Amino acid sequence: MSLKGLSAVVTGSTSGIGLGVAERLAAAGADVMLNGSRAPEQAEAMRAAMATKYGTRIAYTAADMTKEADRNRLIESTVAAFGGVDILVNNAGIQFVSKVEDFPLDKWDEVISVNLSSIFHLIKLVIPGMKARKRGRVINIASVHGLIGSTKKAAYTAAKHGLVGLTKVVGLEYCTHGITCNAICPGWVRTPLVERQIEAIAKEKGISIDEAVIDLLSEKQPSLQFATPAQLGGLAVFLAGDDAAQINGTSIAMDGGWTAR
Ligand code: NAD
Repeated sequence: MSLKGLSAVVTGSTSGIGLGVAERLAAAGADVMLNGSRAPEQAEAMRAAMATKYGTRIAYTAADMTKEADRNRLIESTVAAFGGVDILVNNAGIQFVSKVEDFPLDKWDEVISVNLSSIFHLIKLVIPGMKARKRGRVINIASVHGLIGSTKKAAYTAAKHGLVGLTKVVGLEYCTHGITCNAICPGWVRTPLVERQIEAIAKEKGISIDEAVIDLLSEKQPSLQFATPAQLGGLAVFLAGDDAAQINGTSIAMDGGWTAR
């Protein structure tokens, strides 16, 4: 699958799934704009290493997706660096775990803002350029929680269900412009976001980290294995390519069977 000559923006791409997606897009030949909140020298080291490894143009913009000026700067700097945005991967996301009655209102607002509203705003920014070039790929990293629910994840589940809905509407509205919009719905992936949940289980149940991992997987993910950021990156590469031109508005789970039950 060659994405040579195409440019991609991946939000929240200095760790976890976003980094895995960015690396696979670069390995497939795309120029990639990384995004995060790393210290400048750390970000530059990461950018330079990826550019050397994959031989494509890699850039980095520090930007907070909840801030309008930062979102504008991310897209403007990508257009300045690569001439446009062909592929937008909305990956930046946060989690907060609490029962509804105890859920802090500011945490509800924050999760909805990062995991849903900022994605709507970013999509709005890239659509005109994609329409002008008659080609575009929007790939939203949703979650199994865009398809089903879990206790203590009200804001996350609401945001991810909203994102699956937004994916359908964007796919429908722009399908005659060579633009597709699809969601990837991972189950458990061992990233910093999940590491914090594993630590919480270990603490709550008084068990080791290894035992907490088994506990976490066996409750939900029938394969008893994590999906990896690289595997999710492989799916993103497929969705970004020409073979996926007629896959639109859909959600693809990579969850070891979680949602098959
Ligand atoms: P992660 O914490 O490693 O990555 C999230 C990234 O988003 C981080 O780099 C963080 O800096 C960035 N981010 C957070 N808020 C931001 C903001 N306001 N502006 C810009 N960047 C911001 O976690 P991850 O597991 O790699 O999560 C990536 C995505 O995958 C998220 O949307 C998450 O909901 C989703 N997801 C993860 C799992 C999993 O098991 N890890 C499962 C399903 C879905």
